[in-house]
Amino acid sequence: MKYYSTNRKSSPVSLREAVIKGLAPDRGLYMPECIVRLPDEFYRHIHRLSFQDIALTVAQAFFGEDVDAQALETIVRDTLTFDCPVRPLHDHLYTLELFHGPTLAFKDVGARFMARLLRHFVTTDSQTIQVLVATSGDTGSAVANGFLGVDGVQVKVLYPRGKVSAIQESQFTTLGRNITAIEVNGTFDDCQSLVKQAFIDAELNERLHLTSANSINVARFLPQAFYYFYAYAQMKLMGREDQLVVCVPSGNFGNLCAALFAREMGLPIKRFIAANNANDVFFKYLQTGTYHPKPSIPTIANAMDVGNPSNFARILDLYGESYEKINALISGSRFTDDEIRTAIRTCYERTSYILDPHGACGYQALCQQLQTGEHGLFCETAHPAKFKETVDALLPTPVPIPERLSRFLQGQKQTLRIENDFAQLKALLL
Ligand SMILES: *Cc1c(COP(=O)(O)O)cnc(C)c1O
Repeated sequence: MKYYSTNRKSSPVSLREAVIKGLAPDRGLYMPECIVRLPDEFYRHIHRLSFQDIALTVAQAFFGEDVDAQALETIVRDTLTFDCPVRPLHDHLYTLELFHGPTLAFKDVGARFMARLLRHFVTTDSQTIQVLVATSGDTGSAVANGFLGVDGVQVKVLYPRGKVSAIQESQFTTLGRNITAIEVNGTFDDCQSLVKQAFIDAELNERLHLTSANSINVARFLPQAFYYFYAYAQMKLMGREDQLVVCVPSGNFGNLCAALFAREMGLPIKRFIAANNANDVFFKYLQTGTYHPKPSIPTIANAMDVGNPSNFARILDLYGESYEKINALISGSRFTDDEIRTAIRTCYERTSYILDPHGACGYQALCQQLQTGEHGLFCETAHPAKFKETVDALLPTPVPIPERLSRFLQGQKQTLRIENDFAQLKALLL
């Protein structure tokens, strides 16, 4: 299958090229040329299938032409080594727990899949691939852990020294092996601009095989559709699948976009809610029909602090730029930090379930907007222990830290330090 750019100025490319390039040369985002509708038969029996088997059917629909069946099966099975369970909370509200992966956030699914697909495409080359990624916290850990131990790939994670939380830092600085953490004496924007300079530096590109593991990569965003199918299967098993409303706490809108793709493949989702924090560009778009990107505002749900969501271009493209279609299918919501705190407290008092600040936006949006007869499912996008300070301050007892998180915290930090200076980064890469 070919992948075209949302800007439609560059020509369509193969999956291999879309995955290695990430962004199209015209700065657009790659989209698959067709979206396969899965047969009714699949939906009738979906509740009898395992997560991995469901995911494999979805993966074949997108990648089956470009990756041979055996390799694709291995990639899917190696990616999904953990569960994404649905749990009932109260009334008709359900949580889809996406934090059971190695770094306790949903980004593990896309990052692990992309790492394995990239390796599949480059094993024929003798040269090692260098993945460069700048992070303000969460992306670095998901990418680093996704690529950990993947042969033929070296990962360099650049992050602003002293500006990420201890828990986040431990998840990409203690890994060793093919992962190198680089502490930059600067801000996140400095890290991002160093990475961008590396990608356009002629000498580096001649001598190294550089690639980004950016969240806009098709191999990171499409596999996120897997767990929406599996969530539907679990709802069906409980007899709760009709009038399904899916609510996604959103920042760059990659996760919501994957859910929209799932619906285009025939997954019976009635409608969607995009839950936002104070970064309300999409919320305002739904209200007014105009899109005005803004600088991001820091909040306690910081993985959603995005002022210009990159996947907005994909959503527009998917619905032929029709505001009417988008507005009919997706409703918005936005919450201040205080409203997020209240949601965490009230959910706990009601159910003893501990939300993280991102999932709390999803929960609260459903509490406000779910209608009679509907079943509401929100994504719990991260484990609350990742935001321990914020969450502990709201609850009578501290959030327990899962084993796999405390293991990171006990690890030995290993980093290289550089100034905000491209020459230093270049020397280090060569
Ligand atoms: C990245 C992230 C989000 C936002 O997801 P998008 O796909 O960028 O919309 C929400 N919650 C958590 C915990 C995240 O890490």
